[in-house]
Amino acid sequence: MAHTATRRYDVVAAVRKFTTNGHTNGSEKRPSSDEIFGEDTFNIDIMRQKLPKDVFNGLIATIELGKPVDPKIADIVAVAMKDWAMERGATHFTHWFQPLTGSTAEKHDSFITPNSGGGAIARFSGKELIQGEPDASSFPSGGIRATFEARGYTAWDVTSPAFIMKNPKGATLCIPTAFASWTGEALDHKIPLLRSMEAVNKSAIRALKLFDVKATKVYSTVGAEQEYFLIDEDFAYNRPDLLLSGRTLFGAKPPRGQELEDHYFGSIPDRILSYMTDVEEELYKLGVPVKTRHNEVAPGQFEIAPIFENTNVAADHQQLTMQVLRTVARKYGLFCILHEKPFAGVNGSGKHTNWSLSTDTGMNLLEPGDTPHDNMQFLFFCAAVIKAVDKHQDLLRVSIATAANDHRLGANEAPPAIVSIFLGDQLEKIFAQLEKGKAKKSETKDLLGLGTPVLPPLPLHTGDRNRTSPFAFTGNKFEFRAVGSSQSISFPLVILNTIAAEAIDELADEVEKHLKAKKTLEAALQEVLQGVAKAHKRIIFGGDGYSDEWKAEAKKRGLYIKNTSLEAFEAFHAKKNAALFSKYAVLNEREWFAREEILLDQYFKTINIEGETTASLAQRSILPAASRYVRSLAETLQALKSVGSSSKGLEKSLKEATALLDGFKDALEKLVAVNADEGGETLNSKAKHMQSKVIPAMAKVREYADKLEKIVPDDLWPLPTYQEMLFVK
Ligand code: ADP
Ligand code: MG
Repeated sequence: MAHTATRRYDVVAAVRKFTTNGHTNGSEKRPSSDEIFGEDTFNIDIMRQKLPKDVFNGLIATIELGKPVDPKIADIVAVAMKDWAMERGATHFTHWFQPLTGSTAEKHDSFITPNSGGGAIARFSGKELIQGEPDASSFPSGGIRATFEARGYTAWDVTSPAFIMKNPKGATLCIPTAFASWTGEALDHKIPLLRSMEAVNKSAIRALKLFDVKATKVYSTVGAEQEYFLIDEDFAYNRPDLLLSGRTLFGAKPPRGQELEDHYFGSIPDRILSYMTDVEEELYKLGVPVKTRHNEVAPGQFEIAPIFENTNVAADHQQLTMQVLRTVARKYGLFCILHEKPFAGVNGSGKHTNWSLSTDTGMNLLEPGDTPHDNMQFLFFCAAVIKAVDKHQDLLRVSIATAANDHRLGANEAPPAIVSIFLGDQLEKIFAQLEKGKAKKSETKDLLGLGTPVLPPLPLHTGDRNRTSPFAFTGNKFEFRAVGSSQSISFPLVILNTIAAEAIDELADEVEKHLKAKKTLEAALQEVLQGVAKAHKRIIFGGDGYSDEWKAEAKKRGLYIKNTSLEAFEAFHAKKNAALFSKYAVLNEREWFAREEILLDQYFKTINIEGETTASLAQRSILPAASRYVRSLAETLQALKSVGSSSKGLEKSLKEATALLDGFKDALEKLVAVNADEGGETLNSKAKHMQSKVIPAMAKVREYADKLEKIVPDDLWPLPTYQEMLFVK
């Protein structure tokens, strides 16, 4: 009988022989990052070179001031863009957009157009640049688009630079676009993101007037730290669960996991480092300002983080980062896993989403200043965020609710599913003091309240960082740490921008009221900030977010606690929420509820795939392995008997193995039964069926399978083990 494990051993042997020669070579001179940065993007420098001055100025007005694109200049831009792209090897162009699946979509069209003489010319018109019509009927619309009007259209987003995606045979000019229905409703992640940026822009500009700051634009800024796993590609191809569902559905915990904590910030193996270097070069060319790379906590886990950018561009660049991480991996025989929890019992992956607000003049509104005036302004915006987060805990919670993130949040290694804010010691004390009104004399020594000269400098990057908080102030920005590693950052950012816009407006209203009543700005702020501190202090928490005490305490404080995505989806039905998004013109009611439908649908499909994959692997790989083991035990016992001998040990092993096998088969039958059940007619009932029936049935099958993995001989085990996947590289 052929040993099923042969493939596994072959992979291990191949990994040992892998060299990075031919990929990168330490002595070879790599292009320096500033030489290649942005070389594959149609960025402002290129536009300045390639476009007539008035056309260039027109585009800049669109990019910087949000003026509509003048259709007259579109043709000129299109020709310049095409010529530039063709010089760089492009043969096709595509409108690149972000449907609500959370990934990106593209449909390529060639530049080639036949001419009357039987030949062909390359052309690309302004019309093709500005608007496209993908055959979009298969993208989710959450009911917005009836099938009879299945077409949607894409529209050029001038504010995010076009770029070239290379492949071994050529290249494609990618034009970032928004994707809408013919009725003008958003079918993508970009449109609401742009609208939410406009909302927060308006509110912040208005508030800045109170502080006499003259800025023409405020935009939210984002830097998202991407965590990911790398394993040898050949292991992945022997794990149908990883290929189909993005995570392992089976796998016994290896004798060694991350206990030694020696991986974090450890030295990076050559093969991985070559890969990272290549990823960075690709991203530099695409104008993505990646900055840091390091090992993460779990074996085989890594992180890449960029320098922050304006939210819209950062969100596009984040999608590109995920894409490049995946594609470059293949060159190194690696498989990049972006799932939130690919391996049970090992840390999962997140995407810390750092967020702040900045003026066009470069002033960070969440940066504490060193004059009393700056401090007031900082505290005002900081208070607005506190208010927003407390008032809309449910929205932040739902923005990170996915089947995959359910495995991670609250799993003693990732932020809890309860939203709270970590402010850091000093800022927490300042808010406590604001709550009481005037500072006590004894406290003013190191803690200076409003009206006193300066705030103490707040520490940036200190040990004071609380890694257990889902939403932490980190010196000059907030870090939303509960965001999942595979999700698009756009929805969380839409929520953040919009709730911030509302809170800024509400606080500005209050300040204005006090000013009208002839209070000084200082006195007005004192009052308003005191109000925020009193009303919203429950959301501030500096302790251990992983602890059980916190769960109890959060309950006592009346915080919003929803442990699973399905519960979190309730947020769609809170009256305040649809109203908020309508008021700020970010999502109308139909668009808002469409998002719920899509999230429910994705939840249902994700678990449905996992359930089917679990059953198939259990039946076709694990059951045969276990029965081979049982047979070999039975045959050995038989052989012993035939020579008049016996073994109590073998008899015990056989008993143990058959008992597990029976339990496993029972569990499998139950899973097959719940898989066969549709779970009702509505999306809601289907999703509930997944949560209450399929997930527990899968867990039972896995429990037996992982026990079997521990007793079945290694050479009979069909699936690459955790040990192999995580440690062989
Ligand atoms: P870590 O959280 O791992 O300590 P850093 O503090 O260096 O990492 O930065 C994390 C991320 O925060 C980076 O992507 C960085 O660009 C981003 N960041 C820094 N300042 C801002 C800001 N004002 N707005 C948004 N993101 C920012
Ligand atoms: Mg971080």
